[in-house]
Amino acid sequence: MENNIKSYLPQISEYFVKDFGKEYGEVIRQRINDSAFLFVSTSLANKRKLSTAIDNQLLRLTNQFCKEAGNALGISSPYKILTPEELSELKYYDVLIKSSSELNDETYIDFVKFLGKLVQKDKISQKNCENYIKNDKNKEIIKNCIKTICQIYDKNYVDKMRDLTRLKRQLLSNEEPSKTTGAEDRTIDEIDALDIDENEKDILKIKIAEYVLNDETAGFSFYTKSTSGKDMRVCILPPLEELNDSILFHEISHTVNAHNYSAKSGFTLIIDDDNKENQDLDEIITDYFALKAQNLAQKEGFKVCNNENELSLYSCAFMLFRNFLEGYAKDIKSCRMSGDPSLLDKTFGKENIKSLSQLATQFLDLIDTERQGEIVNALEEKYGFDIDKIDFSQKPKSYYEKQYLKFAKTMQETLNNIKEFQKDADSENSL
Ligand SMILES: [Zn+2]
Repeated sequence: MENNIKSYLPQISEYFVKDFGKEYGEVIRQRINDSAFLFVSTSLANKRKLSTAIDNQLLRLTNQFCKEAGNALGISSPYKILTPEELSELKYYDVLIKSSSELNDETYIDFVKFLGKLVQKDKISQKNCENYIKNDKNKEIIKNCIKTICQIYDKNYVDKMRDLTRLKRQLLSNEEPSKTTGAEDRTIDEIDALDIDENEKDILKIKIAEYVLNDETAGFSFYTKSTSGKDMRVCILPPLEELNDSILFHEISHTVNAHNYSAKSGFTLIIDDDNKENQDLDEIITDYFALKAQNLAQKEGFKVCNNENELSLYSCAFMLFRNFLEGYAKDIKSCRMSGDPSLLDKTFGKENIKSLSQLATQFLDLIDTERQGEIVNALEEKYGFDIDKIDFSQKPKSYYEKQYLKFAKTMQETLNNIKEFQKDADSENSL
């Protein structure tokens, strides 16, 4: 079926179109049709190949650092590209410089040698180093140079490189990854065959390594550009033995999103720093539209996978979010489909989006325990799916009820604020 998934896409697209409306038909069909689907299983060979992607990425970062450091120091090329191990010396230098203690001559000599490597003068003799640092002015210059590049290293590189190194160690350790399968694995070949540049392929492989090792999400979607600059969406899914329609529709629901807005959410990029904004809110919305399309499919008896569907964590939040999701479906759709990331704040108000986003995270945190099913069922039974019908005068009987009532109250207020915000925006427009 791996290759066959393409044959199901036109029909799946129609369910999304039916829910979103004809005006989005063309763009939805195209986004889904242009997506690539990878069914990821793991094998030892695969892990080794994934770790190569990490090496490539470390090398790229090192490269980038050396360029940046060279520029900051006013060194024109040629400069030497250091190894990640050599670079890690900077962590130690940073601590030394920041500590108030006097630096000794040995440290200054290390500094000189390090900078020597960067400007491709590998063989500065010990004697030359000693002579150079006899002059206090030179010492000051050297110290400032090291300080400058330590700052660059600290700001943009050290965390990323540490995460990558950790991931690699984890990948190559003997522990069996949590997602295993006996199926023949062509993931790496399939990634290599994608029409995206090498850097993006490595980033995707690194995300797959994280996915395989962490077992946090059922699947994920990866947004990138093709080599010709076209939007590309890649859906990463579990192997078919484990896949079900809820996971499939959820990931496809991500691909329906516009690139700019969604690239900020859904999963965490290592390489790009600020991408966690509205992530939980986006997941709840994604799951909501996935479920709507899936319900339409079910009504017609349409099914792709044989496995039983499962209720996702995100769908548990519908009881709190239903009034928002249904009351503002049209606005939510136009934001999701638009490539304009500022539209969200313009439509709902920046503070209101912030509030919804916080509610999403707080609610998911509240119920994301081993007793999730039990907690959610009890809350649903007591409070239903319409927060306007909640009797707030009733005393909560448990911690979960207390928290939920607090969230529901905030949700009511936020929805009122959105109403006010849109009224103001409307009257401004009509002036
Ligand atoms: Zn998702």
